[in-house]
Amino acid sequence: MKRRVMNKKLLYRKAYKILDKSTPLKIDCGLLCNKRCCAGDSKSGMQLYPGEEIMLSNKKFLHLRDEIFHNMNIKFAICNGSCDRKHRPLACRVYPLTPYVSQKGKLFIVEDPRAKYICPILLYNKSKDIDKYFKRKVYKVFLLLSQDEDINKYLLYLSDTIRGYADFTGMKLPI
Ligand code: SF4
Ligand code: SF4
Repeated sequence: MKRRVMNKKLLYRKAYKILDKSTPLKIDCGLLCNKRCCAGDSKSGMQLYPGEEIMLSNKKFLHLRDEIFHNMNIKFAICNGSCDRKHRPLACRVYPLTPYVSQKGKLFIVEDPRAKYICPILLYNKSKDIDKYFKRKVYKVFLLLSQDEDINKYLLYLSDTIRGYADFTGMKLPI
């Protein structure tokens, strides 16, 4: 059990490092939208990936609570709208993209349909401007993380959710 947690910590450390300095656009997109994705309030927040709390449980800018996602016990994080970027959760590092496992079982990195009406990059169809190196790094991260059984299971459930949002927003997903 202890070894498993250690492994997750190492995986998340690597994932954080890969995405530490990366941003979706080559410019600071937060200046375009006044950081809409960081408008922390008591209702909005983000799911942590399974076991990710090991990286974040002592961070004062985050409030963590338990959540059940499908049949998994995970943590949901609410921030106060500002953070130490070095310690931002993975969901923030990859936004407005998301990992997606297609119905044929292939991993893709796609625009997150949950962000469609929040992030101007998606809202105004500017996703072609997303830095291809950023997208590649996000892919590398989830290829790495999907080695972990719990994270892989979560990615499958998350992909079901993504399909539901994509239907609702009319976004096309890869097969
Ligand atoms: S909402 Fe989109 S454009 Fe604005 S800071 Fe977040 S990722 Fe960048
Ligand atoms: S943790 Fe940081 S990057 Fe993530 S939403 Fe909050 S302020 Fe934004």
